[in-house]
Amino acid sequence: MEFPGIILDTSTIIQIQKPARNILYDMLIVGAGPAAMSAAVYAARKMINLAILTIDFGGLMNETTEIENYLGFQNINARDLVSRFEEHVKSFEIPANYGVPVKEIKKKDDFFSVFLEDGTVYSGRTVIFTTGERHRELRVPGGRDFVGKGISYCATCDAPLFRDKKVIIIGGGNSAFTTALDLIRVNAEIILVNLMKEWQADEILKQRVKKYEKIHFLDNHEIIRIEGKDKVESCIIKNRDTGEEKRIDIDAIFIEIGLLPNSAPVKNLVELNEEGEVIVDCLCRTSVRGLFSAGDVTSVPYKQIIISAGEGAKAALSAYDYLVRTSLI
Ligand SMILES: Cc1cc2nc3c(=O)[nH]c(=O)nc-3n(C[C@H](O)[C@H](O)[C@H](O)COP(=O)(O)OP(=O)(O)OC[C@H]3O[C@@H](n4cnc5c(N)ncnc54)[C@H](O)[C@@H]3O)c2cc1C
Repeated sequence: MEFPGIILDTSTIIQIQKPARNILYDMLIVGAGPAAMSAAVYAARKMINLAILTIDFGGLMNETTEIENYLGFQNINARDLVSRFEEHVKSFEIPANYGVPVKEIKKKDDFFSVFLEDGTVYSGRTVIFTTGERHRELRVPGGRDFVGKGISYCATCDAPLFRDKKVIIIGGGNSAFTTALDLIRVNAEIILVNLMKEWQADEILKQRVKKYEKIHFLDNHEIIRIEGKDKVESCIIKNRDTGEEKRIDIDAIFIEIGLLPNSAPVKNLVELNEEGEVIVDCLCRTSVRGLFSAGDVTSVPYKQIIISAGEGAKAALSAYDYLVRTSLI
């Protein structure tokens, strides 16, 4: 979808100034999904001296096609929404280090050191940690061998490769049904396989997907092996009630079986819950003073763009309050 009068240029944000290593920033934002970008806008408007450290811009939004539940847009292409977020952040000229993951965050006295995978270290008085989630892997024989050779975790990226082909989608939630919509667009024959008896996706998505003629639903089934020579050719599927196993010839398998929080950089620093999510209170405070967290990586339920953006704004305001109250700015 085009927006008259707005130039959506995603390349320019990558060229923005890099953060300086010898500066003590008031705030370091880790990640650049909706939580981080919202935090950045709120912090920049408070004139906080900040920098962004991230692998990419957009986070999980880069993996979907259409967004229909972000207030103000009945339907917007996900890349366009990311571009709009980027444009907004870019207007504040915030320095950003792009492409290198943060490895670990440590705190000494009142200061944080953020260590990147390439050995670079940045220092900050506060950190807003917003690293989101990653896909849960399918752990069956063949599950690792064929990633990129018929096994995909990203329908937005890979659905066009399987036009008119026969594919399996594993999962029963919103992501599985959104993946189905991407594959319907390329006229694939789809088998949706769910471990559970219930399909957990939103009713509106279920209704839309069920209209498609070339889709089959297999609940209470699991994939136990993926086979092929150089790429996926078939899989063995098991009925969890009867134990019956059968082989299905297939061109691709899309895996949508949930997400895991990217909390490793803070696992030795803050309190995590059993799922590995960063525990936050209603002000986005973690168990460590000065370290705030927002979005999908946290214990806040309902992982959605609008929720991450709202939490990101809250984290920035909370961090600002902390800086002011502790007379750090
Ligand atoms: C297929 C799919 C479809 C979806 N559809 C919708 C939808 O229609 N509507 C909706 O509201 N939500 C949807 N979602 C959910 C939505 O995308 C997420 O809730 C949202 O993106 C979370 O925002 P976030 O900022 O918390 O994390 P993310 O978007 O995951 O961003 C995390 C950021 O952290 C960075 N990062 C991660 N690890 C590190 C590290 N070690 N060092 C530095 N940076 C790091 C990443 O590069 C990224 O920039 C969908 C998700 C998926 C997977």
